[in-house]
Amino acid sequence: MYHHALTVSVDDGVIAMSNMRAVQVSRRGGPLELVERPIPQPAAGEVRVKVEACGVCHSDVFAKEGAFPGSVFPRVPGHEIIGVVDALAPDVIGFQKGDRVGIGWNGGYCGACDPCRRGHTFGCATTGRITGINRDGGYAEYVCALASSLARVPTELASLDAAPLMCAGLTTFNALRNSGASPGDLVAILGLGGLGHLGVQYAAQMGFRTVAIARGGDKAPLAKQLGAHVYLDSEASDVATELQKLGGARVIVATVTNGEAMTAVMGGLGLAGKFMILGAPESLTIHPAMLIGGRQTIVAWYSGTSIDSQDALAFSALSGVRSMNEVFPLARAAEAYDRMLSGKARFRVVLKVS
Ligand SMILES: [Zn+2]
Ligand SMILES: [Zn+2]
Repeated sequence: MYHHALTVSVDDGVIAMSNMRAVQVSRRGGPLELVERPIPQPAAGEVRVKVEACGVCHSDVFAKEGAFPGSVFPRVPGHEIIGVVDALAPDVIGFQKGDRVGIGWNGGYCGACDPCRRGHTFGCATTGRITGINRDGGYAEYVCALASSLARVPTELASLDAAPLMCAGLTTFNALRNSGASPGDLVAILGLGGLGHLGVQYAAQMGFRTVAIARGGDKAPLAKQLGAHVYLDSEASDVATELQKLGGARVIVATVTNGEAMTAVMGGLGLAGKFMILGAPESLTIHPAMLIGGRQTIVAWYSGTSIDSQDALAFSALSGVRSMNEVFPLARAAEAYDRMLSGKARFRVVLKVS
């Protein structure tokens, strides 16, 4: 299913407009199709990035299924993008051709609306700018992005390594660094999947006494390898009780989307502990009396903005935190997406674009 090229007429004849390969969803819920599209031109405030790598994230389901209000098709998914700036609108400052940059879920912000002026740029009110959702993303050889959405990529990080850090890495890194935990505090990561395997590494590298929680004894060696000081198998023990034996968690970061698993571990919070929700279950049961008695908090955490991504990349380069990836070429994006959806990938799926 390779759809063919647009041509444009110019005065002195017909020339092929410069095209690129992209993988798009042509209609709501439709398949991922490899197509040829014109290379986009940067609009005001934008740069064009020649994509090198793009992660395949579970949130790409929202793009494919058109789950967000006002979804427009065709749409190119992908919000874990690493590439090189190859063109800029004249008004862009701070970036230059040749800069290697990352683009994440947050597609930029205006800096002028009330949320932006209060420092909540993640909630910019001007437009819902979500990369790969309501503007085209990185399953393509080129993508245009607002300069405010760009993170600088350290030279030590290869593009394929850096891509998943733009979402899975950012989400766990930014939650942990804003958790209020101090070095030596007991911090538990619930789940050892795409997010969790990064969360455990970050927690250990940030100096927390790190507990990894997952199902099955077979994951113990992996947890230790990632830096966990303690591994709790939720099938073999009551994890809340076990956390209390360790003194109670200062912070529990839930990377799973299973509400029952989240409720089961909440009892492991220590006094003034904080439960951080990164994945969205359909519903969640909490026990308010326990929260009141322990003066505990439940918070949800939004991944972050471009400067948070830049910090996540820099910390990963500094500390050696890396995602474990399965790599597919761009042309096999549909297969890569299915692999991600299967839940069997260890642990992130990444497209090698160029
Ligand atoms: Zn994502
Ligand atoms: Zn704004």
